[in-house]
Amino acid sequence: MGYRDAIVLSTGLLAGATRPERRGDVRADAGSSSARGSGANDRFSYDDLRGLERDFERSLRHLRFDPATEGLYRDWNRARFRASRGGLFAVLAALFFMAPLYLSALFDLSDSLHDLFVTLDVLVVGPILVCAAVATWAHRVQALTQALQTAAILAMLSVTLLAHVATVHGDPSLSKQLLAFELIATAYFGGFSWTRIVAASSLFLSLQVVVDLQVGGHWQLWPSTLFAAGCAGAISVLGAYNQERIARVSWIRRKMTEVLLRTDVLTGLTSRFEFDRTFARILRQARRDQKLVGVLLLDVDHFKRINDTQGHLVGDQVLGEVGRAVRRSAGRRALDLQARFGGEEMVVVWYDADPDQLPRMAERVLDAVRGIELTCVQTRDRLPVTVSGGLTWMIPCEHAAPEAVLRHADALMYRAKHGGRNRTISAAFGA
Ligand code: GH3
Ligand code: MG
Ligand code: MG
Repeated sequence: MGYRDAIVLSTGLLAGATRPERRGDVRADAGSSSARGSGANDRFSYDDLRGLERDFERSLRHLRFDPATEGLYRDWNRARFRASRGGLFAVLAALFFMAPLYLSALFDLSDSLHDLFVTLDVLVVGPILVCAAVATWAHRVQALTQALQTAAILAMLSVTLLAHVATVHGDPSLSKQLLAFELIATAYFGGFSWTRIVAASSLFLSLQVVVDLQVGGHWQLWPSTLFAAGCAGAISVLGAYNQERIARVSWIRRKMTEVLLRTDVLTGLTSRFEFDRTFARILRQARRDQKLVGVLLLDVDHFKRINDTQGHLVGDQVLGEVGRAVRRSAGRRALDLQARFGGEEMVVVWYDADPDQLPRMAERVLDAVRGIELTCVQTRDRLPVTVSGGLTWMIPCEHAAPEAVLRHADALMYRAKHGGRNRTISAAFGA
């Protein structure tokens, strides 16, 4: 859990999902050990990578992830389209409110029909569109927002359909264009799933044909309606499908890249890239909170000999086991961190630690490594694996730059090597 928390924490910083209170702050609410299915927390751990790969395949074929991932994707998609969707409703609302200005110029309507459309546009559709725009921007209750958005689209398309009914004797092509514009604008700026665009397009296009055939008795009109409105529907649906597919593929790819960027695949520890970024922030946070930070730098003993005698694949296996041991035995708090620092060097960070406890905590890590069960390729005997460590601690001050702290821990680690390996040398930073 420790390494995952560290990953979760660090990605939060990366993604800005866990917004710090002040610039550079590191918060301790890193969340669950595995982020899948945890709602607003859209961070994944290394263990989720296979699931993400399956989701990638699914996104290509079915445009749907597994349920937990699907929820996270939709949250992201809604957030991405919030401004554009809200803007779409606001612009449409403005157009409907301005209906009295252009209605008689565009449509050949009787006075009573003109008054009916002005009333519907200004008093019904316009206000619903405004409510949908406000709800989209405010983003408070999801169910209410969705209901208002659906109501706004249905109201707008219904009034346009009514205009079609009214203009079958006038200029029917005009209302066909209106419906086409509305569908295309909704598909392009709304970010709705393509299946909803299919549903809305099919419903309203078939109603339009029905109007041509039944209400107006203009059976000769339906081929042109089908052609004009069908083209608009096809453009909307294909556009929405394409847009959704690209969005899903790039989202899942980004999630996979984020996981790979912040994790070392061989050891499962935090990557060096992520460590550099997070460690500096942890020190700044500790300085502000006046908390003590413990840092243990580890180096596998005689690792070159293991590589040379057992082969590099066994060497890699040893690194994987050391990584597992470090993850299992080191800190479990949200701001604790375990990273692969270099080839066979690892670093453990404890946040808000007790200096009296730190040597014992470091010893627990060394013990976990000593307990690794691997056999020697040639003799089938147990392969001894040990590490040497340099342990330091400090309540960070302005001199406690990350490089200075790590240099100090490195010097202590080399003293442990010279002292016979398989041990830790400890000293407070600056002592
Ligand atoms: P010491 O006890 O003094 O640390 O001796 P050592 O042999 O561990 O030290 P040295 O720095 O000479 O050797 C480190 C070796 O680690 C050299 C390098 O080839 C190997 N190494 C670094 N990264 C990897 C890796 O990812 N996989 C494998 N198999 N070996 C690696
Ligand atoms: Mg080394
Ligand atoms: Mg070594």
